[in-house]
Amino acid sequence: MDHKFPSIIAIDGPAASGKTTVGVLLARKLNYLFFDTGIMYRVVTWAALKRLGRVDLEEDVTRLAEQVQIDVQPPSLADGRFSDVLMDGEDVTWQIRTPEVEANVSQVSAYPGVRDAMTAQQRRIGQRGQVVMVGRDIGTVVFPDAELKVYLDACVEERARRRFEELEHRGELADYEKILKAMKKRDKIDSTRAVAPLRPASDAVKICSDGISAEQVVEQILRLAKNASI
Ligand code: C5P
Repeated sequence: MDHKFPSIIAIDGPAASGKTTVGVLLARKLNYLFFDTGIMYRVVTWAALKRLGRVDLEEDVTRLAEQVQIDVQPPSLADGRFSDVLMDGEDVTWQIRTPEVEANVSQVSAYPGVRDAMTAQQRRIGQRGQVVMVGRDIGTVVFPDAELKVYLDACVEERARRRFEELEHRGELADYEKILKAMKKRDKIDSTRAVAPLRPASDAVKICSDGISAEQVVEQILRLAKNASI
């Protein structure tokens, strides 16, 4: 009997379905690297907004995606961040979480050239193994051979409520109805785009996190990981 745990655990799902909370806890338990691919698309979007002032110039945005240096480091401040996110050396941890980025990231991540650049980097990171990678297309496109794939979902009202509470917790002004509307829009663009749309891989285990805690989801995934290793 082989007790080797899956080397790559892919967790996909829509915005605020709990991927980050669950992924961080899971990685900590397994002593794996946690890697959130959404960060990369957010940094490219922030770079486009800052440097181009717009996100609709596909060629220019793609060039930016190919050139910008994205770094994720252990947290240097205890302000609720999971990690420091650096864009060409500059700390953009909170800038990439603004409504401005959220309103534009789905357009940027639908550009095929941007996806190619990000996917190549994600494969390089994942190939080292022992990684929990979260995103929208990890099980379908980035690592279609991952030994364990989870598709984490929750109803959109629950997800908007979580995002609302997150923002309030950070002391930011939050409007539930606005968040709900923006989230529905982002879900729609992410799941209907031509390249790498959000959808569960055919061999993904679907988990709905409505009404259950992140710890319970982690327990379920750990059980799956143990079964996958037998
Ligand atoms: O997961 P998060 O909400 O941070 O992702 C931000 C956006 O990045 C998503 O709405 C999606 O447009 C894009 N994304 C993607 N593919 C991934 C991860 C994120 O297209 N693997």
